[in-house]
Amino acid sequence: MDIQASDILVAGGGIGGLAAALALSRQGAGVQLIEQARAFAEVGAGVQIGPNVTRILRDWGLEPGLRLVASFPHALVARDARSGRELGSLPLGERAERLYGAPYACIHRADLHRLLLEAVQAQGVPLLLNQRVAEVHQQAGQVSVRTEQGLARQPSLLVGADGLWSCSRQALGLHDSPRFTGHLAYRGLVPLQTPPAQSQVTVWMGPRLHIVHYPVQAGRALNVVAIVHGELPSNPQDWDHAAHAAQLFQALGPISRPLRQVLEAVPNWRLWALNDRPPLTSAAQMGQGGVALLGDAAHPMRPYLAQGAGMAIEDAQVLAQCWGDKATVAERVRRYAEQRWPRNAQVQARAIRNGRIFHAHGPVGWGRNLAMGVLGARVMDVPWLYQGID
Ligand SMILES: Cc1cc2nc3c(=O)[nH]c(=O)nc-3n(C[C@H](O)[C@H](O)[C@H](O)COP(=O)(O)OP(=O)(O)OC[C@H]3O[C@@H](n4cnc5c(N)ncnc54)[C@H](O)[C@@H]3O)c2cc1C
Repeated sequence: MDIQASDILVAGGGIGGLAAALALSRQGAGVQLIEQARAFAEVGAGVQIGPNVTRILRDWGLEPGLRLVASFPHALVARDARSGRELGSLPLGERAERLYGAPYACIHRADLHRLLLEAVQAQGVPLLLNQRVAEVHQQAGQVSVRTEQGLARQPSLLVGADGLWSCSRQALGLHDSPRFTGHLAYRGLVPLQTPPAQSQVTVWMGPRLHIVHYPVQAGRALNVVAIVHGELPSNPQDWDHAAHAAQLFQALGPISRPLRQVLEAVPNWRLWALNDRPPLTSAAQMGQGGVALLGDAAHPMRPYLAQGAGMAIEDAQVLAQCWGDKATVAERVRRYAEQRWPRNAQVQARAIRNGRIFHAHGPVGWGRNLAMGVLGARVMDVPWLYQGID
């Protein structure tokens, strides 16, 4: 079957869904996007985007917009959360550009979402809000989608970009639930009077905890995320909770004074329960027939490699490249899934490993500190990741 104009339906208007709609429409494919929310919105938190991702955004013509709203750290600095001691650092800035051909950036999620949304709108992609996908079936290569609001579609391709609790997964016979990681993320933004002279990503590591902060909004705010081990809040799907600093400080235990000062500057904390799925093990988990999963719908990961949104954007780029091939829908989906699943699985696994390293204590923590001090950038850099996809 060959693809018809306006025959691709993207379910979900987060970073992944918008990236897919943009990349596919840039290939000349006819795309519609449906989103359950009544308005497009993103939560108040930041994301880091590595050179593997900024390169794609550049390709899509988004670099000028990115330059206005992102911050571009000169280094990633790791510190001991208890003593405050610097453990090691990875130069980013000019080194990332030189080695990987694109910058390392930190951006507020709402800014990244807006850049993508404006580009999708400029492509003329129809965006239908308040449409929550409730049923997805695939039989003999025919996909059927129905929303709670009564919309019915039979697209040639469904791009399931409906996030962690994806309903689109059903069409691939995937009925398993995400798993709670035992980790909680406290997130907040500190307004900055003046942008820092030099922007950097700082990671504080300690027993069963780590904290990351970096400037966003072109240096007008500091994004802070503190990860601790803890209990699942009452409703796992209601992931965004109000939180109190006292709860966080109790969970952290003793920390260095400079770190405490950063955390005390956060005016409001939000608490997120972190869920993931085990790393992918086959292409069939990313796409079959007329259904392609993308982003967190396919491979939700722990945020310890800072690549969940990045992998969604890479997925979108590869899906669009496969769409350029002369082939049937099923063959294009097969090529997409074959290309993407090993890399996504590798990133998922590395994120799990990073969590263990960041939160280590005793001899393992001691070994980590020693390795970072002696080998520095060599253990902190991730060339296979930042080199990106072709
Ligand atoms: C603490 C934390 C820090 C992170 N830091 C980083 C980072 O530094 N770098 C990075 O790259 N990533 C990071 N991530 C990961 C990143 O946020 C996610 O991987 C990314 O946002 C996933 O995008 P998505 O579009 O796949 O899913 P989502 O953002 O979840 O979007 C899914 C969309 O689908 C919609 N939807 C859901 N169900 C339906 C339905 N049934 N019908 C219609 N619409 C539906 C939702 O409303 C939503 O708009 C972090 C995550 C966390 C929790």
